[in-house]
Amino acid sequence: MSLPPIKRVLLKLSGEVLMGSQQFGIDPAFVAELAAEVKAAKETGLEICLVIGGGNIFRGMAGAAKGMDRAQADYMGMLATVMNALAMQNALEQLGVQTRVQSAIEMDKVCEPVIRRRAERHLEKGRVVIFAAGVGAPYFTTDSGAALRAAEMKCDALLKGTSVDGVYDSDPKHNPDAVRFDTVTYDRVLADNLKVMDASAVALCRDNKIPIVVFSIREKGNLARVLAGEGVQTIVQ
Ligand code: UDP
Repeated sequence: MSLPPIKRVLLKLSGEVLMGSQQFGIDPAFVAELAAEVKAAKETGLEICLVIGGGNIFRGMAGAAKGMDRAQADYMGMLATVMNALAMQNALEQLGVQTRVQSAIEMDKVCEPVIRRRAERHLEKGRVVIFAAGVGAPYFTTDSGAALRAAEMKCDALLKGTSVDGVYDSDPKHNPDAVRFDTVTYDRVLADNLKVMDASAVALCRDNKIPIVVFSIREKGNLARVLAGEGVQTIVQ
């Protein structure tokens, strides 16, 4: 299995990578490094959609585990993703990359609402479009938001940049013998409940034939390597 030619990509970054070496929040210096990688990818001629998680600030499940109402906590998580989107927008624009943020929760003082045709136009004009607030509904994650935007924007692949370098047959943080897949099917991911993305995101990618590439974004230069078909990664297709 290999990737089709990629002209338009959706890059999903976990919120936690924005922490850099911190334990919480946003490390502007590390966000600037990530932005430089996005800029370099764009300069190869790619059209780039970005989705950023919110786990570095707030996750609904964590709030619910401490007794909060799940939906209320999820809305807080969605707002966290908007903060991350604005941080990334700032970093990209400081490097001269034109961007637009579109949020699934309307917030017209800080960004645009999600309008697919407008996003299409931004991409045509060479802007990076950052989609915030996931799908705009509780009980979902930004992985689902990424799969949804990848489908509606007709992206050739969904790249998931996270803190692990691919998909393993068991959790590499707990099992030193865990084996990383080079490629794995959507159905195997779903049947074995492999930790890639949540099931609704994987199913949406499967149904729309969008390959998912899981790789570590923490290592410098990895985004370029993965786009060149090199480097350590797992392709789900
Ligand atoms: N969230 C949500 N609906 C969405 C996207 C996100 O409710 O469509 C909330 C949910 O609480 C989630 C939080 O926002 O935990 C942050 O997103 P996520 O956990 O996906 O971030 P990541 O793990 O990628 O940093």
